[in-house]
Amino acid sequence: MTRTAVVIGAGIGGLSAAIGLHRAGWDVTVLDRVAVFRPVGAGLVLQANGMRCLDALGLGDAVRTQGRPSISGGTRRADGRWLARIPAEDLERVLGTSAIGVHRAALHDILLGALPAGAVRTGARVTAVTAEGEVTYDGPPGPVGVGADLVVAADGIHSMVRRLLWPRATAPVQVGVRAWRGVTPVWDGELVVAISWDRGAEFGIVPLVDGRVSWFAAVNAAPGPSADGDTRVPARFHGWHDPIPALIAATDTVLRDDLACLDEPLPTYVRGRVALLGDAAHAMTPNLGQGANQALEDAVVLAAVAGQPGGLAAYDSQRRPRSQQVAKASRMIGRVGQQLENPIAVAARNTLMRLTPPRLALRSMARYADWRPPASTT
Ligand SMILES: Cc1cc2nc3c(=O)[nH]c(=O)nc-3n(C[C@H](O)[C@H](O)[C@H](O)COP(=O)(O)OP(=O)(O)OC[C@H]3O[C@@H](n4cnc5c(N)ncnc54)[C@H](O)[C@@H]3O)c2cc1C
Repeated sequence: MTRTAVVIGAGIGGLSAAIGLHRAGWDVTVLDRVAVFRPVGAGLVLQANGMRCLDALGLGDAVRTQGRPSISGGTRRADGRWLARIPAEDLERVLGTSAIGVHRAALHDILLGALPAGAVRTGARVTAVTAEGEVTYDGPPGPVGVGADLVVAADGIHSMVRRLLWPRATAPVQVGVRAWRGVTPVWDGELVVAISWDRGAEFGIVPLVDGRVSWFAAVNAAPGPSADGDTRVPARFHGWHDPIPALIAATDTVLRDDLACLDEPLPTYVRGRVALLGDAAHAMTPNLGQGANQALEDAVVLAAVAGQPGGLAAYDSQRRPRSQQVAKASRMIGRVGQQLENPIAVAARNTLMRLTPPRLALRSMARYADWRPPASTT
């Protein structure tokens, strides 16, 4: 008999899990609260681990045509001086595949297109879930109840399912960083892919396949009220190296967020028939650029093991240690990277980075992206 899965949340994690489960023979329904998917967000970097997951889902080549391989990488100071330079080809040689810069909306479209018509229901806000696999959502005609063999809770950092079924889990914490993200129109100026750091601030560049450039800026800031339309990027970036001021000036629409993460690792990702996945399970800071990549890893592992006896326990044991280790490392990189403010500590870090042999810098950058899906999925 065909097994049934309900996936709550049609973000990168939920859709990838739905595709993996569908390919494994499950009858999958995805529920999302939004009425329509809008092309929101900015660029994402899909690293070697994420690209391997997309390959396992049969979508790697489609994403490569919508993405741009990184040209080079490394870390600079606000004046443009290099602290560490890691050519993309070196990273590719070590990892065996290139990282790809892609607009989140393009990736989302590819994922949506890989599911059968009717599998994704929008305007379906889930209001209740039980460990036995009963899901209630607000459909257009009123509350609707469905039962499933498996419920995948991919409902994001503020997961309602986590609050309901993991009542002791601590809420996400604000990390004291405000971030701005934007995408320029087609950009024909010179571009070097890197992250630039100053005291308590960073700026990153992700070129997109169509010539546009996605960028993000972050500064230390106490969490404040919502942006209320004020998405001005702090003036300090106007004095940073080229082309940072010009990229900001060229951008019409800017998104602003106060960054948060799940600081307290969960003791399990599974409760009965329910599995947490993606940000719902391990929302992390963006410092390692791994949030979506980890959601993709969750998705391919879950799809590989869910149909087996003890499958959800295997999902938990294969995914929890690694994703929590990546989340912890990401937070730590943020603390010694973008968030570091003390001038003496910043100078010491910069000196250390300049003195680190390129071979070691390469190894530490490759460390978290060096992951392969289980053999059964490839
Ligand atoms: C500034 C910034 C930069 C980043 N850069 C990168 C990067 O370069 N690389 C990378 O890998 N990651 C990056 N990330 C992280 C990445 O964006 C997230 O980790 C990833 O998108 C999480 O996907 P998800 O599917 O788990 O959750 P989400 O994308 O949050 O999706 C959750 C979905 O659930 C739905 N939902 C919520 N509640 C309900 C409900 N009750 N009923 C029905 N539906 C519901 C929502 O509508 C949404 O569609 C970045 C994040 C930030 C903030």
